[in-house]
Amino acid sequence: MTDNPSGALYAEVVATERLSPHLVRIVFGGPELSGYEPLNVPDEAVVLWFPRPGQERPAPVTEKDGVWGHHDPQTAPEGRNYTVRAFEAGENARMTVDFVVHPGGVAGEWAVNAQVGQELLITRPRCWYEPPADAKWILAAADLTGLPALARIIEECPADGPQVHAMVETADADDLAALPTTQCNAHSVDASVGTGNGVAPGALSDLIAAKLPELLGQGPGYVWYSGEAAQSRAIRKLMRKEHGWPLERVTTVGYWRQDAERWAETYQKVGGDQLVKVYYDAIEHGLSNAEASELLDEEYERAGL
Ligand SMILES: Cc1cc2nc3c(=O)[nH]c(=O)nc-3n(C[C@H](O)[C@H](O)[C@H](O)COP(=O)(O)OP(=O)(O)OC[C@H]3O[C@@H](n4cnc5c(N)ncnc54)[C@H](O)[C@@H]3O)c2cc1C
Repeated sequence: MTDNPSGALYAEVVATERLSPHLVRIVFGGPELSGYEPLNVPDEAVVLWFPRPGQERPAPVTEKDGVWGHHDPQTAPEGRNYTVRAFEAGENARMTVDFVVHPGGVAGEWAVNAQVGQELLITRPRCWYEPPADAKWILAAADLTGLPALARIIEECPADGPQVHAMVETADADDLAALPTTQCNAHSVDASVGTGNGVAPGALSDLIAAKLPELLGQGPGYVWYSGEAAQSRAIRKLMRKEHGWPLERVTTVGYWRQDAERWAETYQKVGGDQLVKVYYDAIEHGLSNAEASELLDEEYERAGL
């Protein structure tokens, strides 16, 4: 996002497509999008800001005391994280985002009703996927929210790189159509249909536990997961506590929470804002983001979150 001190840019809907029963694809364009600087990492994600009711487009970020953001709570739009499924640079830049269709939620509802010409604000590209150089195999698992990143992992893995074993859980068999058909380095795709995704308990942590014996004999590996937060915790604990893996071989990112409202109530009750201090203290003491996040999740779990 060159020459743009705020790092925020408006993007407008140029096309919409129903990809599958639970996925809607939105393609964004518009003059500001050519200023987006892609990270070129498969799980690259941005914050999308949605207009409040009555707003034609989300309020812009402003600068206050050197910090760019939405400083007025009266007009601040709702922000949600979404993966950049594809980005085409250039004067007519295009960004593709695949939204899960689910009941409730500003973002999910916006996506199913999106019309060409509507605008969102985009900020903060980030990524987590980082297989160690010596990895001989990669186990990449996701529910529908992580499927766009998983699709990029499958599409972008180098032919002479580690073998990629993909694992996905979808709400419906037809959602699997959103996975790429191009084959990279001898990857396998295991699918669990009708689990997780708010329709049933998640199955990926058990499926990963069952798959590991086949992979562990094949040399050093890397496990990546994105999706529901309880599964994220279970998979991190499986790899870190049961298998004793170091953090650099395990990336687990909670993308959403089943029953987020109940979690938020408990968060208030147990004084969640105090618990977050664990994260900032750890960062101040020189721990990495992954190490600090793990400590915070352990603190949350002790507090019943
Ligand atoms: C780095 C990152 C990348 C992400 N990439 C994507 C992506 O590419 N595509 C995508 O669809 N999502 C993605 N997500 C997840 C997305 O940000 C969340 O699902 C978000 O909560 C959706 O916002 P909302 O306004 O629709 O629902 P919210 O207002 O957050 O939640 C409303 C209700 O819906 C429930 N809910 C939220 N998400 C889901 C879901 N997926 N299934 C069932 N119930 C749900 C909540 O528990 C709550 O009860 C990503 C998240 C992160 C952190």
